[in-house]
Amino acid sequence: MLCSLRSAAWCHLNRWGANSSLRHLGFGLHGRALSWRQVSKSPLDVHTLTSSPSNSLHQQPWGANLRSCPLPAGARPRRMANSKYEYVKDFELDDTLLPNCWIVVRIDGKGFTRFSELHKFEKPNDKRALDLMDACAKEVLNEFPDVRIAFGESDEYSFVLHKSAKLYGRRSSKIVSILVSCFSANYVRQWSNFFGNQPLSSTPMFDGRAILYPDVKTLRDYLTWRQVDTHINNQYNTCFWALVHQAGLSNAEAQATLKGTDTGAKNELLFSQFGINYTHLPEQFKKGSVIIRRHQEFVAKHQDDGTAVVRTRRVPVVMYCDIIKEQPFWSENADLLS
Ligand SMILES: [Mg+2]
Repeated sequence: MLCSLRSAAWCHLNRWGANSSLRHLGFGLHGRALSWRQVSKSPLDVHTLTSSPSNSLHQQPWGANLRSCPLPAGARPRRMANSKYEYVKDFELDDTLLPNCWIVVRIDGKGFTRFSELHKFEKPNDKRALDLMDACAKEVLNEFPDVRIAFGESDEYSFVLHKSAKLYGRRSSKIVSILVSCFSANYVRQWSNFFGNQPLSSTPMFDGRAILYPDVKTLRDYLTWRQVDTHINNQYNTCFWALVHQAGLSNAEAQATLKGTDTGAKNELLFSQFGINYTHLPEQFKKGSVIIRRHQEFVAKHQDDGTAVVRTRRVPVVMYCDIIKEQPFWSENADLLS
């Protein structure tokens, strides 16, 4: 069908040179063929094009059969598009994300408890593993300008795409799969940068989902939720592994010891039993990782006399800071969610 439509479009162009007609027939402004999906969604549908006696194609002066119009020189017929099997495309679901909403894509490691044991991650936090996660997330920001800010903890990362993002026509499956793919591929590619000669013994996998937030307040609440979660998990895990590694408790005993304890009790336990001041732990462990773009100077070239030409560009940078309070992060980066 598309083949004959293209054929018709070219005939029409040759005859009348009308760009507007091309657009109706599934061609973009520059003569690029639009996808079948785009053509199907056009107000002027295929049925109208081929059956209505009032449409312009049926008013061709020469009265030729549309299907007999030759393809332009060099054009190749698309067999699939013209086959009886094309109806299978009707089974595809439209998963376009609502417009004007902030998109959060959260990815999460699959079976990372087992993965971390297999690769002997340090407990409760392995800095190499966290740095690797951050490096993968930076690559996502390098690849996708629509991502304004990312937040990561443990084996998960959240990527916030601007509400005006047009990436893949806002199709959820496309956006989620490409971000997960970019992240996972980088996890493998950059593994040795952080783990040296230690082999990657199993396949790291991540799932992903897209969530829509209608306004900045709800989006900020989402990010707050993830950072609060980081603190809760880190404090619990720090206590748990201190009880196991230093006090010699079994996992079940450590779990029972911590059951029902609040934040203050956990801090007291860490300090009184193990001499650990929770506030002195690394910010990366307590607050998670925030990635935004910052201006950074770089040497673009050297002049003939050897003088360096310095320019600036925006590059993703990792920060370990509070994103719950307004000051200083949000007030200093007000443009992030504008
Ligand atoms: Mg997880």
